[in-house]
Amino acid sequence: MLLITFIEDGQHKLGVLDHARREVIDLARAAPQLPRDMLAFIAGGRAVRDEVHELMIGGEGRVPLAELRLAAPIPRPARNIFCVGKNYRDHVRELQKPESTIASTDALPAVPIFFTKAPSTVIGPGEPIPAWLDPTQSTDYEGELAVVIGPGGRGIARAGAMRHVYGYTIINDVTARILQGRHQQWFLGKSIDGFCPMGPAIVTADEVSQAGSLQVQTRVNGELRQDAPVASLIFDIPTLIETLSRTMTLEPGDIIATGTPAGVGMGFKPPKYLKKGDTVAITIDPIGTLENPVG
Ligand code: MG
Repeated sequence: MLLITFIEDGQHKLGVLDHARREVIDLARAAPQLPRDMLAFIAGGRAVRDEVHELMIGGEGRVPLAELRLAAPIPRPARNIFCVGKNYRDHVRELQKPESTIASTDALPAVPIFFTKAPSTVIGPGEPIPAWLDPTQSTDYEGELAVVIGPGGRGIARAGAMRHVYGYTIINDVTARILQGRHQQWFLGKSIDGFCPMGPAIVTADEVSQAGSLQVQTRVNGELRQDAPVASLIFDIPTLIETLSRTMTLEPGDIIATGTPAGVGMGFKPPKYLKKGDTVAITIDPIGTLENPVG
């Protein structure tokens, strides 16, 4: 099932995307008894999802997709987005180049590197990435698969970790590279307002048999820059969930961005940072394509 949030009369509304028919089922109309926002919907778990499955057959509350303006599926996460740095080998290698603004001689990380992005970074598909807010003019893209947590928990073991995955979405971990390098901790360079495009949908985990077989592709102005299977993560999704939940209780609706493959702008000589008028499109099927212009 592909879940979306769309905007109608200035309000966020929940919908289910019927990809084949290019239509959206407006859940407030088709099933007014169901939760009205994505976080509550996710917290409702399987029971809520099963109710929606029944609606897919009926014709109630259907709207052509082309008429809707999408928001991020989780427009305002309840807390920071958890992110993982240096989680693809080829990306670690490109960071080791001398021209990298966060050059490091570190070998592959022995344990996952976590940092976070503030909830206020989230913007929806099609919204401009506000590169004008980057005081260092070194705005870069990072296409990533993001895991959305369903049932929460603490001390989740690897073996059972996938049962805690509600679904998957795409995020662009937009980064001000010079800020990232200057402040030791990456938070400032990663948390500029609007620096986390998310969407276009959440695909529920039951429709993804192997997360490793998903392919992350990023195009800038149509040029393919990143292209890697999720299977090449250094630390896989169960390991990330196990590591995080050893420290903190995970909650429904938490988002874990799994890291970016090689091909970021910083990896080129000279760096290819984003500039006004560029377009960044990240595709991971069956989630779709997250496309944003740069402002
Ligand atoms: Mg990243």
